[in-house]
Amino acid sequence: RPPSPDELLAALDTEQRTVARTLLGPVAVLAGAGTGKTRAITHRIAYGVATGTYSPSHVLALTFTTRAAGELRSRLRALGAGAVQARTFHAAAMAQLSYFWPDTIGGHAPRIVESKGRVIAHAADTVGLHVDTPVLRDLAAEVEWRKVQMLSYDEYEAAAADRVMPRDTTPRRVVDLMRAYEQLKDDRRQLDFEDVLLATLGMVESEPRVASYVRQQYRFFVVDEYQDVSPVQHDLLRAWLGGRDDVCVVGDASQTIYSFAGASSRYLLGFGSEFPRGSIVRLERNYRSTPEVVQAANTLMRGQPGALDLVAQTTESGPAPGVLACVHDGDEAQTVARRIAETVAAGASFGDCAVLYRVGAQAAALESALGRAGIPYRVQGGTRFFDRPEVKLAVHHMRGEAVRRTDDELTRRVGLVLQLSGWTPTAPEGSGAVRDQWEALQAIMTLAEEAPAGTTMQQFTQDLVDRAATHHEPELDAVTLATLHSSKGLEWPHVVVVGAAEGLLPISHATTDDEVEEERRLFYVGLTRARRSVTVTWSRQGSTRAGARAPSRFLAALDTRSEGAAPPAAR
Ligand code: ATP
Ligand code: MG
Repeated sequence: RPPSPDELLAALDTEQRTVARTLLGPVAVLAGAGTGKTRAITHRIAYGVATGTYSPSHVLALTFTTRAAGELRSRLRALGAGAVQARTFHAAAMAQLSYFWPDTIGGHAPRIVESKGRVIAHAADTVGLHVDTPVLRDLAAEVEWRKVQMLSYDEYEAAAADRVMPRDTTPRRVVDLMRAYEQLKDDRRQLDFEDVLLATLGMVESEPRVASYVRQQYRFFVVDEYQDVSPVQHDLLRAWLGGRDDVCVVGDASQTIYSFAGASSRYLLGFGSEFPRGSIVRLERNYRSTPEVVQAANTLMRGQPGALDLVAQTTESGPAPGVLACVHDGDEAQTVARRIAETVAAGASFGDCAVLYRVGAQAAALESALGRAGIPYRVQGGTRFFDRPEVKLAVHHMRGEAVRRTDDELTRRVGLVLQLSGWTPTAPEGSGAVRDQWEALQAIMTLAEEAPAGTTMQQFTQDLVDRAATHHEPELDAVTLATLHSSKGLEWPHVVVVGAAEGLLPISHATTDDEVEEERRLFYVGLTRARRSVTVTWSRQGSTRAGARAPSRFLAALDTRSEGAAPPAAR
């Protein structure tokens, strides 16, 4: 039984309740980590649906990563609002673009560039820019940045004066590469992620028919993590709204960690002037963490522009954040494994623990140390559900001819297609690869059963494609390994942040004040994921590079009194 409107409101504090009740008109929630922003908007949507103010199909909940969209969907489902669409900006734009392309532009929508890196490398070759792989990556970031900022080449060149250019390049050369890249893409009739947003924006702005269709479909917008909105996403949101202002955004300027990709908290902070009749709500109580964790987070951010002090709501105290200094990366990984084993021995489950790091490559050492210690783990964003071969095959079959008929029932047709991909109605015995495969396909079957009545095969397949993998993966009691970036919005009882050394956090390529501030926010995101305990580790020596590291400047925010279980280096 879904919660009643009264029950929905009863689960919120006074300020959150204001958010939930303000179902029409512009609302912005500005609040720090763990203050219940996501809780407020999911309850608000459910309340709007439960009271009949919203028809579920008129609501669009937006966020920035597939994982976050999946998270919103499952929270909404639990609150009885499972029919509301929760999507990334990208998925919402993509769906509109492929739907309207044949009518407005003609033919099928172009394909998405499969390997952007390769096209960038080709473009660099074309213009005689001979650079190494890291520089190519930086060039790709410039290409993306210009597009999400919606700058012309000339405007980019002017703006580049204030930017750190990729090594061995000049703004003029970067523009040459950008032109070549766009040309290559056009020749192949391909679009990249930014094109999808830009093309959708162009379509809604220039085609009245598209605009009116989209605006009739979606009337109420809710955006989580609004501090991450880029100029093109912001403009797209405005285009979707048309002249209306039924939009609710929530965010925390202290968690802006995608400025390198064009995100900016200025839209969150400027919401009041953009929507003068809007309500601004501030939440201060942190419901997630112990007072010790909250204090560390406050100390870290004190004096930073736009930072909001958190007030711990939980009175039950926990351990002070611990800092463990290690000899080298291998030792650090072992220390983490030992730490987790102790935490589990003290009563936690593996799934209660997460290990967060700055760059993906740091996972390898952790994976092997955890593996050797017999600790189950899963790497967030590892093998994605839709990268699994059996799932790819099933989706391929669903798109094939055999299933174009629209007469009989969705589940029966999905059942037939899944059988082509190796699924049977009964689960195979035991565990292992065969069982894993069955479970992956069963997840698709479950989705078909849950789809609203009248869903066509085509809609179902499209929806499948943009749903997050992790969301459907069988639950596993395992430690989560994740980058700091991908941990945003999530929480665990016990969190370890590794690599708190100069060069890793802040990362060596963060040189300007702005870049270092962004690294600080990243550390803030990491610390505030913890409900009960947070441990920070660092090592003096990398595994390959020579030269000693220094502890991260951000450690100054933590009370570094040494811990009971001192690591070898500290003895
Ligand atoms: P982040 O900035 O990290 O995204 P957030 O502001 O979105 O955090 P939530 O994830 O919504 O915060 O909430 C943090 C935790 O606090 C969750 O476990 C949530 O269930 C709990 N919580 C939030 N509000 C309340 C409340 N009024 N009563 C009890 N628990 C709450
Ligand atoms: Mg949140």
